[in-house]
Amino acid sequence: MNDFDLIIRGGTVVNATHTCEADVAIRGDKIAAIGTHLPGSAARVIDATGRLVMPGGIDTHCHVEQLSGMGKMGADDWYSASVSAAFGGTTMIVPFAAQHRGNSLRKVADDYAELARRKSVIDYSYHLILSETDPQTLHTDLPELIRSGITSFKVYMTYDQLKIDDYQLLDVLAVAARERALVMVHAENNDVIRWVSQRLLERGYTAPKFHGVSHVALAEAEATHRVIQLSRLFDVPVMIVHVSAVEALSTIQAARQIGAQVYGETCPHYLVLTEDDMDLPGTEGAKYCCSPPLRDAQAQASLWEGLANGTLQTLSSDHAPYRYDESGKIPYGDKTTFKQMANGMPGLEARLPLLFSEGVGGGRLSLQQFVALSATNHAKMYGIFPRKGHIAQGADADIAIWNPEREVTLTVAALHDQVGYTPYEGRTVKGWPETVVSAGRVIVSDGRLDAAPGSGRFIARGVPEPHTVEREISPRATFFRTLALTQEKQKNY
Ligand SMILES: [Zn+2]
Repeated sequence: MNDFDLIIRGGTVVNATHTCEADVAIRGDKIAAIGTHLPGSAARVIDATGRLVMPGGIDTHCHVEQLSGMGKMGADDWYSASVSAAFGGTTMIVPFAAQHRGNSLRKVADDYAELARRKSVIDYSYHLILSETDPQTLHTDLPELIRSGITSFKVYMTYDQLKIDDYQLLDVLAVAARERALVMVHAENNDVIRWVSQRLLERGYTAPKFHGVSHVALAEAEATHRVIQLSRLFDVPVMIVHVSAVEALSTIQAARQIGAQVYGETCPHYLVLTEDDMDLPGTEGAKYCCSPPLRDAQAQASLWEGLANGTLQTLSSDHAPYRYDESGKIPYGDKTTFKQMANGMPGLEARLPLLFSEGVGGGRLSLQQFVALSATNHAKMYGIFPRKGHIAQGADADIAIWNPEREVTLTVAALHDQVGYTPYEGRTVKGWPETVVSAGRVIVSDGRLDAAPGSGRFIARGVPEPHTVEREISPRATFFRTLALTQEKQKNY
């Protein structure tokens, strides 16, 4: 009888707080012990000499087996997405169960949970996407789902089919304050985008690059500012997802200085690609269209700075698996205008290698910051810490063993998603997660997968850390929180 199921020996263990040389012993799905020259035997021993032993990544913004606002289904299901994530060093994904107009939120969540349960190879949870604010959604389904461990949800300020208006946003923020859920916001001013797009199309400017012109940075900055001020009515934390513009980043920074509890996320494509990538012959640039769009080199530099100085907490893929064909990017072939192409690009697998190579390798981030941005902060922001997001005794054994010297060229053939293209084709990264352990199981090693569909587990999440930090609710927010409650009572909810 062995003392442990698995021991990872001789590696450098990296957490968000510190780095040390240590062995990591695993029993069942948990980390049982950490220490130098750990005594004891194990059924399996991995030699991690010269390797970095880091918490498995957590990706808290990815779209998997989900209909878009335009009604498009992505190419990845829970199986291919979770496999692709695993090969990229990610051991937990948190995609979205999306409510479209007229849908029951409860049914949407239940159906989505069933898809995940059958197919995911790594642990998972999901957020909700809210497009309705009727009493059933807001005062029955949403609170019940939050209490069952789905403690975050996303709303859109743009996209005609999904967006909610400011009045609805206030209702949503009040519920989030009371139920202690984290609201994720896609912040872009819908009317600015509509106005600019209409005029561009009238003049025949239909190429992909005009997508970037219509989603002007000021539209992102305006909506970011607006939702922050609305959140202050109730002193409720908000997470601005996929921050891309300098103006939005500085808005977040300034708001935090006056006490707003605002958090930010960005994505790899904003760090390594620019608007020039959309400027390709014909409709080819559609491969690089996402919302908010790619910006310029100055925005890239600011976002790196924002990741390093703590303005932004998380780096997520925003994986949006639309193929470059009629099903996604070019529904009308070469006649497709920038308004008709599915928005988004793949990134589940490339997320952490890009962050490692460009961030740590590029001298922009420390190893500790890499771990914080790829795992620890995700776990804290979304109520999964201390179960996940660090290497510690008693935590889930979710570990990625990185070879910091290994060079890999990203190609569509080398990656495991079903999208059929990668925006990073031909780019070489240095540093790769060679061995991936999920809940104590070695699921990736030597480039091979060893995990069955449905072997990942649903993780009920706790209260997001932004709601648990000790802070005073202002008299103003107390008043508006009470007012929200009174209004519900009057309506007999
Ligand atoms: Zn979004």
